[in-house]
Amino acid sequence: MKLLENKVALITGASRGIGEAIAVKFAEQGAHIAFTYLSSDERAKALEERLAGFGVKARAYKSDAGDYAAAEQLAADVMKEFGAIDICVNNAGISRDNLLLRLTPEQWDEVMQANLKSVYNLTRQVMKPMMKARAGSIINLSSIVGVKGNPGQSSYAASKAGIIGFTKSIAQEIGSRNIRVNAIAPGFVETDMTHYLKDGGAEKWFEKIPLQRFGKPEEIANVALFLASDMSSYVTGQVLSACGGMNT
Ligand code: NAP
Repeated sequence: MKLLENKVALITGASRGIGEAIAVKFAEQGAHIAFTYLSSDERAKALEERLAGFGVKARAYKSDAGDYAAAEQLAADVMKEFGAIDICVNNAGISRDNLLLRLTPEQWDEVMQANLKSVYNLTRQVMKPMMKARAGSIINLSSIVGVKGNPGQSSYAASKAGIIGFTKSIAQEIGSRNIRVNAIAPGFVETDMTHYLKDGGAEKWFEKIPLQRFGKPEEIANVALFLASDMSSYVTGQVLSACGGMNT
């Protein structure tokens, strides 16, 4: 028996990186996958086909996570197509790194909208069918940076810290309905988002990481699988660090 047999998972931002790894991992474990992206049409199409290869239903939706009306439409479309939303992974996110003196109001708003408002937008939608079903697992991608802070990443860190407060609050609001809400706080993971860090030499970052390497998207997907499945049935309101030991 697979861990997510016949569950329906909605994953935001799965055309690349961590979201893509989560979609593949969940499909391998028998989940039907609805996923979103912003602009990578070809990658989304290719992933749709790859996921279908696992014998599950898979559908890509071009939907801006920061747009409330789009989230409302997305949840309605997924319910129509799949008939349920058992698992929601709020993964879509961006970074616009800059020292505060140079950080423009537009950059601040862009990050807050894509990273934090997005989590409010979709959680508010998916909790409705989950409350009816009296079951659900919501997983929000925070970051080690939201826990510790990082120079040059004040907007990103604030958005990721906001996700932690949101996660803990909603876990308390809807725990009585058997809906679990948890966050993952990855450290540095090898994706397009962290590609630029390697330009100056990855080794200098390894000094700060007890495991002395960046994480792989699949390693974050394994944590998401645990939180999505019944393996974590008594876990809610938690922030699970997957950071190679950076946060000890
Ligand atoms: P990534 O490689 O840059 O991929 C981002 C994904 O999100 C893409 O699929 C992108 O779609 C999508 N996306 C971006 N803005 C969106 C929007 N407004 N609406 C819908 N989709 C949107 O990022 P990643 O490294 O995999 O990160 C995934 C999540 O993990 C993010 O929340 C990030 O903050 C968090 N995280 C990452 C790391 C890390 O080291 N990589 C560490 C801690 C936390 P398109 O392809 O269409 O642009």
